[in-house]
Amino acid sequence: PSPPANGGENCCVKVALHVRPLIADERAQGCKDCVTAVSGKPQVQIGTHSFTFDHVYGSSGTPSSAMFEECIAPLVDGLFQGYNATVLAYGQTGSGKTYTMGTGFKDGCQMGIIPQVMNALFSKIETLKHQTEFQLHVSFIEILKEEVRDLLDPTTLNKSDTANGHGGKVNLPGKPPIQIRETSNGVITLAGSTEFSVSTCKEMATCLEQGSLSRATGSTNMNNQSSRSHAIFTITLEQMCKPNPVFPGDSSLNDSMNEEYLCAKLHLVDLAGSERAKRTGSDGMRFKEGVHINKGLLALGNVISALGDEKRRKEGVHVPYRDSKLTRLLQDSLGGNSRTVMIACISPADINAEETLNTLKYANRAR
Ligand code: ADP
Ligand code: MG
Repeated sequence: PSPPANGGENCCVKVALHVRPLIADERAQGCKDCVTAVSGKPQVQIGTHSFTFDHVYGSSGTPSSAMFEECIAPLVDGLFQGYNATVLAYGQTGSGKTYTMGTGFKDGCQMGIIPQVMNALFSKIETLKHQTEFQLHVSFIEILKEEVRDLLDPTTLNKSDTANGHGGKVNLPGKPPIQIRETSNGVITLAGSTEFSVSTCKEMATCLEQGSLSRATGSTNMNNQSSRSHAIFTITLEQMCKPNPVFPGDSSLNDSMNEEYLCAKLHLVDLAGSERAKRTGSDGMRFKEGVHINKGLLALGNVISALGDEKRRKEGVHVPYRDSKLTRLLQDSLGGNSRTVMIACISPADINAEETLNTLKYANRAR
């Protein structure tokens, strides 16, 4: 018998498909919708192929809050229990990764996943703050050409929107490169990147907005705002139970209270465009970037399929985290006790059918 269609609660990687509507540009080109959602099932059909995921959102008219409630809110709750988590938006350039993730946040007007995470986080903190002390930190980095760049670097922050739109993004000469390190107990840290301590939702939103302004973009044939980098917005939640004043003399209670320190992080990842280098029609420098981007996405695919294969996992199969900066950085938040959701983003347009099929196949490996 085949495993349950939803992958089961123990499955460490959940895969949701997001089909965005046809956009004006596609309609203007006369594109047809070539992706059919199968009603009553988390399944889509494209040509003769059909794919089943844990969830399918978008074309069937599901409200966007459903994705948050079903896929993301449990990860936010998990943070309060000490579980690390990762949300990955995968897909070709123009498929809606940034829109879905909310990485392009501006003036609070867009309700992507990250703004919704922030709201959920702070309302939960509000209900718990009488008994627990919280500390929140955020970092926002991008990985481009296997190099980590700090999107919150205070020395480059407000210089990102210069006349040509490309200014202020180069790390200052002499500034040591950001390094991914692993502590003796397996915690991954980023040495040399900015971590802002935030205490309000507004402060966190400012970090998101500032960082997305300084994110690198470059033009290709596909899209003049093509993202060739992985952008990773990380929220770290530390919590400490406040000592209970009602039972000051009860030492057994106080002892257990002292152990109530938890730290967990949530990575919200807007991945680089998954299209093949040949489709961007690029060469030289840009091609090299393409190769590097593929390195991260390739390694991620291998890590996720190793994690998803329960039989191999039980046999202690090697999970190739070290093959790219991306997987190295996410190592302590992918697999193990952590929770991972991959949101595969696709365009329904027939001109994108080939890349859409690639995305569906990639996402299918995770199941
Ligand atoms: P990516 O980050 O994958 O390159 P974007 O998020 O920039 O893609 O989306 C590409 C275009 O599609 C943008 O113009 C965006 O506004 C539009 N878009 C994406 N998702 C949706 C959606 N769910 N509803 C309406 N428009 C969308
Ligand atoms: Mg984008």
